[in-house]
Amino acid sequence: MSKKYNPYDQMLATLDKAADMMKVPDSEYNFLRYPERELKVALPVRMDDGSVKVFEGYRIQHSSLRGPCKGGIRYHQDVDQDEVKALAAWMSLKCAVVNIPYGGAKGGVKVDPSQLSVNELKNLTRRFTAAILPLIGPLSDIPAPDVNTNAQIMGWIMDTYSMFMGHAVPGVVTGKPLDIGGSLGRPEATGRGVMFSTREIMKKLGRPMKDATVAVQGYGNVGSVGATLLYAEGFKIVAVGDVSCSIRNLKGLNIPELNAYVAKNGVIKGYEAPGIEYISHEELLITDCEILVPAALENQVTEQIAPNIKAKIIVEGANGPTTSEADVILNKMGVIIIPDILANAGGVVVSYFEWAQNLQSLMWTEDEINSKLEKIMVRSFQEVWDTKDQFKTDMRTAAFIVAMRRLVEARRIRGVFP
Ligand code: GLU
Repeated sequence: MSKKYNPYDQMLATLDKAADMMKVPDSEYNFLRYPERELKVALPVRMDDGSVKVFEGYRIQHSSLRGPCKGGIRYHQDVDQDEVKALAAWMSLKCAVVNIPYGGAKGGVKVDPSQLSVNELKNLTRRFTAAILPLIGPLSDIPAPDVNTNAQIMGWIMDTYSMFMGHAVPGVVTGKPLDIGGSLGRPEATGRGVMFSTREIMKKLGRPMKDATVAVQGYGNVGSVGATLLYAEGFKIVAVGDVSCSIRNLKGLNIPELNAYVAKNGVIKGYEAPGIEYISHEELLITDCEILVPAALENQVTEQIAPNIKAKIIVEGANGPTTSEADVILNKMGVIIIPDILANAGGVVVSYFEWAQNLQSLMWTEDEINSKLEKIMVRSFQEVWDTKDQFKTDMRTAAFIVAMRRLVEARRIRGVFP
């Protein structure tokens, strides 16, 4: 995997393809090629040994056309501006596909958080929040968790912002702990959405869910919840992997038992059970299975790997896991890809519910949240499916078409300022 992929170029390639099919003139959609605002910040952070280290961070707002900018913050050693730009654009498209009243943004800090103490992580988060303060706010730009960030980190962001404002502002961030305005169902929401998307595609294809085999790459918030809910629906999870290792049992893994191990040890590595074999990360992707769920990072399914993929369905739990070259190969092979901007939208949908509860100081029940999420996911899936049939295209291009229709229409109605 030595080739350098630029995720922003990949986003533009699909945008142009969808626009071409929709026959939208360039002048009506070219605004989507440019993020509205890009902020790069330097973050001096006091480390536990007394030294000061400087980290690099970004907050990029792609669009505020349909509502406040919305999107997560990731902490990862490979974060760079093009990646954050692409992720921000995918958020605008994602919010438009599921038709929630948001634009798109993303933030990132170039750091390996596993190398920081809790105190250093808190200092970094507070400093980053202060640095992006001119952009964020409950009516302008609302961050959320993403790769390597969690509810506690969102709590620190909420606290830092509230200190500057002089009063509690829960609606500035979503994915917070319950006690400070978080929502029931938010931690599981992305994985639950992945489960709904997988269930819907099986229904459409008339395939039984019972014992349908699944391989899951990534065992964080998205992959582990997705695997657990799919297991509960009767799917057979045959392989899973995280940063530490990948494991396989073609007869099916015992997911509750694996989860208990991971909860205790933090990673999959070291888990032993009858019939389990340790495999490479690449072998996981090309494992013999019906459904592959890449739920780790971008650019995992490359053109080298694509021809060897055995799965007939790919459900993108991660953002941008398939390169555009691989996408072409897989489409030719007849593999159905449920694209990220649809498959993993459950997270931002329940973020929207959390924010709506915060603005009204209300609390909904978990049942209300899960059933509202299900309705939105099923409706959006159907819209993308119908658009795919109408344009005789693949699901990714169809999802872009659904999203772009809404964005282009919003631009037309609002007009161009001044
Ligand atoms: N980081 C998640 C995503 O990529 C959630 C974003 C949000 O809830 O705002 O969709």
